[in-house]
Amino acid sequence: MFKIGCHLSSANGYLHMGREIISLGGNTFQFFTRNPRGGKAKPFDGEDAESYNKFAKENGISVMIAHAPYTLNCGASEKSKREFALRVMQEDIARLEHIHGAMYNLHPGCHVGQGADKGIELIADILNHVITSDQTTLILLETMAGKGTEIGRNFDELARIIDKVELSDKIGVCMDTCHIYDGEYDIVDSLDDVIAEFNRVIGIDRLKAIHINDSKNPFGSHKDRHEKIGEGYIGINAFERIINNKYLRELPFCLETPNDARGYKKEISMLKNLYK
Ligand code: FE
Ligand code: FE
Ligand code: ZN
Repeated sequence: MFKIGCHLSSANGYLHMGREIISLGGNTFQFFTRNPRGGKAKPFDGEDAESYNKFAKENGISVMIAHAPYTLNCGASEKSKREFALRVMQEDIARLEHIHGAMYNLHPGCHVGQGADKGIELIADILNHVITSDQTTLILLETMAGKGTEIGRNFDELARIIDKVELSDKIGVCMDTCHIYDGEYDIVDSLDDVIAEFNRVIGIDRLKAIHINDSKNPFGSHKDRHEKIGEGYIGINAFERIINNKYLRELPFCLETPNDARGYKKEISMLKNLYK
């Protein structure tokens, strides 16, 4: 079944997001676990979580993505920043353990001049402190555009993090189409090669979700500016191939395009029409 949805505001809780995505024609979604800039999460509402779980099961929402604040930096040089990231992740995951089908998506971090090797080491170290053997929530490392000192600019950097994680069965990858196109993976003209490369370097079984975004910038720009589907450099024909690709078609696809609810509804409907 085609799993398609979009990023939603979590301001009104889980059940509200479930209802909203169904009303937009989708069956999966993403939200920020707290203010994207970090900060304190709202108190956990167990009743809302219960209601959501029931609603999700009844309405075929089998999986969704909880996105960690993008300002967390597990690769920071200051210990206090890394400890903050660790605390936030532990708290977020503890909550997500109570939510049906949740996966926890994370930008791996930035090495801020320490070099990629050091960054990878610091990120893996935090993951080794965060992950517990009894957690059921999968952590997804997102493929990044390679802006600034971002780690995860290529498949190799993600593979090197995963290699250092002891309980690596709790780690998956979320592929962001805008980011990897910006990061010089040609999903427009060589999708099969890109997937083969992912499989060789990381292993296709690790791939658990797709952020489906067009790019405002040309191939290899390392800029990370999302565009509406079909209005950027990736283009609608490439997206038709992506959603129907035999290795990708069963994964959840989540839009993070610059849209309001109406725009998302239109994109969801357009992509559903292209899904064979
Ligand atoms: Fe992201
Ligand atoms: Fe993304
Ligand atoms: Zn992005």
